[in-house]
Amino acid sequence: MKKDFTGIVGVVLVGVILLTFSGTVYSFIRGAKTPVSAVRTAAVMDDGAHARVLAIDPGHGGEDGGAVAADGTKESDIDLLIAEDIDALCLLFGIPSVMTRNADESLADRFPDDTAGGRKARDLRGRLRVAEESDAALLLSIHANKFPDPSVHGIHVFYSPNGDDSLAAAGIAQEYVNEKLQPENRKESKKADSSIYLLNRAKMPAILAECGFISNGDELAALKTPGYRASVACVLFAAAAEYLSRKG
Ligand SMILES: [Zn+2]
Repeated sequence: MKKDFTGIVGVVLVGVILLTFSGTVYSFIRGAKTPVSAVRTAAVMDDGAHARVLAIDPGHGGEDGGAVAADGTKESDIDLLIAEDIDALCLLFGIPSVMTRNADESLADRFPDDTAGGRKARDLRGRLRVAEESDAALLLSIHANKFPDPSVHGIHVFYSPNGDDSLAAAGIAQEYVNEKLQPENRKESKKADSSIYLLNRAKMPAILAECGFISNGDELAALKTPGYRASVACVLFAAAAEYLSRKG
């Protein structure tokens, strides 16, 4: 059954308020989470079908900080904080979710049976494996961008070339970003090129959100505030929920 769009936005606004103003509630929610090592299994719905799982992938981590801003801010830290907010919203609103990482760590050593290649290759394969083993209906990877021209800014959503579902999910996410968060943003969702391993190897619908440019002073300053990160998380969460409800 299709969920009412305004209803989703309404509950998401409640989530923004909770996440922005109540560190206690947020800490409680985070503390209630199952560690990623014990992947949560999908909830069983009334009709016996499995609820659709959202796999949330905070980019980089551990020895791989991703892009680094002029002030030393690591992309991997911002990625994790936004992903945690999305994960908390999933818990609040009853969408089964799994995080590929919950800490500043590489996934290179997560699966001892996978020893081929270097740490980066094992890390990326580990992320896919977490998503596959949770039978995710959508993989949402969270990143932040960097560019030599400091004026470049704005959230940009990429999609896996693996089919129409990835295209649809990214379209919803970019539309939500442009309509609800960044009215000046004219970006359109873009097919991932071969350099984005996760989107090119994923079999399930998969998208990647570059949540802003840490090379842009204003966007970096915003991304360092809990309120703005929560806003980004809410928009991406709402888009994911909308996609999952359309497919459900
Ligand atoms: Zn990245």
